[in-house]
Amino acid sequence: MTSTQQNYVNGEWSDSENGETFECTDPAAPDEVVAEYQRSTAADVESAVEAAADASEEWATMPAPQRGAILREAAANLAERKEELTQLLVREEGKTSGEAGGEVQRAIDIFYYYAEKTRDLGGSRKSASSAGTDLYTVDQPVGVAGLITPWNYPIAIPAWKMAPALATGNTVVLKPAELAPGTALALAGALDEADIPDGVVNVVTGKGSELGPPLIEHEEVDAVSFTGSTEVGQQVYQSATDAGKRAQCEMGGKNPTVVGESADVEQAADIVANGAFGVTGQACTACSRAIVHESVHDEFVDALVARAEDIDIGPGDEYDMGPQVSESELEGTLDYVDVAEQEGATLETGGGQPEGEHLGDGYYVEPTVFSGVERDFRIFQEEVFGPLVSVTEVADFEEALETANDSQYGLSASIVTNDHEEAERFVHEVESGVAKVNAKTTGLELHVPFGGFKQSSTETWREQGDAGIDFYTIQRTVYDE
Ligand code: NAD
Repeated sequence: MTSTQQNYVNGEWSDSENGETFECTDPAAPDEVVAEYQRSTAADVESAVEAAADASEEWATMPAPQRGAILREAAANLAERKEELTQLLVREEGKTSGEAGGEVQRAIDIFYYYAEKTRDLGGSRKSASSAGTDLYTVDQPVGVAGLITPWNYPIAIPAWKMAPALATGNTVVLKPAELAPGTALALAGALDEADIPDGVVNVVTGKGSELGPPLIEHEEVDAVSFTGSTEVGQQVYQSATDAGKRAQCEMGGKNPTVVGESADVEQAADIVANGAFGVTGQACTACSRAIVHESVHDEFVDALVARAEDIDIGPGDEYDMGPQVSESELEGTLDYVDVAEQEGATLETGGGQPEGEHLGDGYYVEPTVFSGVERDFRIFQEEVFGPLVSVTEVADFEEALETANDSQYGLSASIVTNDHEEAERFVHEVESGVAKVNAKTTGLELHVPFGGFKQSSTETWREQGDAGIDFYTIQRTVYDE
């Protein structure tokens, strides 16, 4: 029987005000319903924000290490449920078991990390220039944080917003993506079991277009943190900042990997294939543009195609790549295949749906490589968000750099090279928030800042590491003569 999951508001599991629900299905077997969730309304958002506002003072004044102890216990609760959450993630979002297990572990690690951070929170003593003056800074939480998250990392992204917000004394209302809300609710469950005070954390499920505006514009909400598409993120940023809130939006990407003249071609093909086809290409940092020096181009394309064709597609444990999350995401990728062919790119491999009894009606698509992609082609410029990578040939490093930077996005970028000088120039001159040498564009450790340039990010704030603490903190300066 299908389980019906409730919202978590003011320390209680509750139905939405209108009693309506919606279903989430398994992208590997779309006839199977994974769970039902509350189709909440603006009234549910209102209750959640009120609860968060009421809980603010108690949580903000609790000594930070005590908040840390609750986060630590929540991390342990998540760890106990790791296998169950991994399977839920596989069924709801379509990651392979290995990818899903890695993501759940990341969420656990984030909670432990920010639990430890609470020991150092509060402010710092400074030396004043006049004798007898006590000069120090005091850190305060911003207040109530409204968090809006996408489906592609449905537990890690809510965790990397929620954990620093809570550690620093903010209360939160989370609106997770409607395609995969199950694991985000599990974060509330883990905190509930750790006896977090009522109202400090609230999770309300439902449609973004219905719940986003009342959350973002609510006068009791002080900060808004959003991750998702550039189109929605720009609207969210505009309305949040118009309403005078501190706001941060992490958005799309079109991430390049440059393959230099001196590159080890086999290594480059591994790096691009992992970056492009891992998590079915549904990562904001996925490699979607390989920019390759002409001297190694043909050899590289052959090596990349071999890797793409070696990928076993299917659900769960035994396969290398799962389905796309939904029919519309699958259609989106297949439409880009048509567009690329019409624009004159050469389809090297993939481009369609794989066949096989074990694939059923799942939203699977083949890992796809296009060569001969020019800079004005749509597959060069637009985020596809599927396992599709374009290859563009360049004559030298200058052209490679210019080509990498020819994008409205600037999230992650990498270079494969054995030329140290080239690597150094790339790191400094590529327009992206994350720059990597001889590594894939995806994957970032949790203790370093994350964010992009241009349309990938609102650049004022970063997330993760100490940057996560900064966004949820107001610094004040005190002179005591
Ligand atoms: P999306 O923009 O469709 O949805 C993101 C969230 O916004 C969801 O919770 C959704 O319900 C909500 N939403 C939708 N309409 C809204 C509105 N009008 N007001 C407020 N909220 C609204 O994105 P998605 O399809 O869930 O995720 C994929 C996108 O996320 C990709 O573009 C990807 O690059 C991006 N992403 C970026 C990062 C990053 O850190 N930069 C990380 C992961 C994903």
